[in-house]
Amino acid sequence: MLCAVPVRERNAWCPDVTANLLDFDLDGLAAFCEQLGEKRFRATQLFRWIHQRGASDFGQMTDLAKSLREKLAGVARVEGLAVVSRHESTDGTVKWLFDVGNGDVIETVFIPEADRGTLCISSQAGCAVGCRFCSTGHQGFSRNLTTAEIVAQLWFAEHFLRAHLGRQDRVISNVVMMGMGEPLQNYAQLLPALRVMLDDHAYGLSRRRVTVSTSGVVPMIDRLAEDCPVALAVSLHAPYDELRDNLVPLNKKYPIDELLAACLRYQGAAPRDFITFEYCMLDGVNDQPEHARALVALMKVHGDLGLSCKFNLIPFNPFPASGLKRSDMSQVVAFSKILLEAGIVTTVRKTRGDDIDAACGQLAGDVQDRTGVDRRMAAQRQVMLGGIKVVVA
Ligand code: SF4
Repeated sequence: MLCAVPVRERNAWCPDVTANLLDFDLDGLAAFCEQLGEKRFRATQLFRWIHQRGASDFGQMTDLAKSLREKLAGVARVEGLAVVSRHESTDGTVKWLFDVGNGDVIETVFIPEADRGTLCISSQAGCAVGCRFCSTGHQGFSRNLTTAEIVAQLWFAEHFLRAHLGRQDRVISNVVMMGMGEPLQNYAQLLPALRVMLDDHAYGLSRRRVTVSTSGVVPMIDRLAEDCPVALAVSLHAPYDELRDNLVPLNKKYPIDELLAACLRYQGAAPRDFITFEYCMLDGVNDQPEHARALVALMKVHGDLGLSCKFNLIPFNPFPASGLKRSDMSQVVAFSKILLEAGIVTTVRKTRGDDIDAACGQLAGDVQDRTGVDRRMAAQRQVMLGGIKVVVA
């Protein structure tokens, strides 16, 4: 079922000069409250109202002193994102398109499963990395999202879904930073957002259930290990540099060996004892038995150094501008068999929300090309990938 619901749900009651409290983790909110002459426990109460109860109107927060509520109304606001549309798939997947101003839209996707509810969150409007198989990468980069814009996706989705599904308990149990953008290229805004997700006074998600997915920004992987180690997923997509340079241009800056060394360092701090590697299966490009064998050899070298890995094979979601095709399922199975026989834990990602273009790489695929990157990529489209000439149809 495709159900587009054009609605705009912005709190228009507050002027933009006030502070949006979705921008703060608890320490930030405590500092803000201190400026108002309020103690930390007031910040905690406020934080719980906003994140646990979904309140945006200070008048609702009845256990706060009336004087504080009046003060807040003059200097602060709780402002979510404007919803452009909501689409629901027959498999229960829900996708929202949010307006973040200046013609930019971002997408957020909820994926329900029997034992969990996962929200896929965007960190940037567009993306500068420009992976060849990614619809977002083809749009170019517009801007970093603010902490409030990252948190607002979770805040809105959690409270919308509770009401929509008639539930009192938590609906979203997992967050993956796998939507639009490279989260580690928006680190300053990402970090407080992660802290909000983990905070027991807000969403209380376990570190194992919050995943940052990166295309391989090596220095920031080390920073994340120090500041806020959560589960890490790395978009690998190729077993050697020549091919990965083409698929994930960031590889030219941080090649595979450097990236895997950073993953090993991260593993020491990570809440899980393995790193997840994402591998998008592209027909005739990176899905051949020799690629699987090269991957086994690569992981053997780094495994001997101590790296533990799990592979997630992702069926590619074709979009016309990519010039690439989804691997046949028999190819995916043959590829996974080679990895499994070498002792590498390997799963194949189920495609979800196909009827609403909700799968990764299709996020906000209808957004206008603002930077000309699509034209530049089109000019490069007749290229050799993995020894195979790929020509745009
Ligand atoms: S796959 Fe991720 S890092 Fe690569 S272009 Fe898409 S959003 Fe950016």
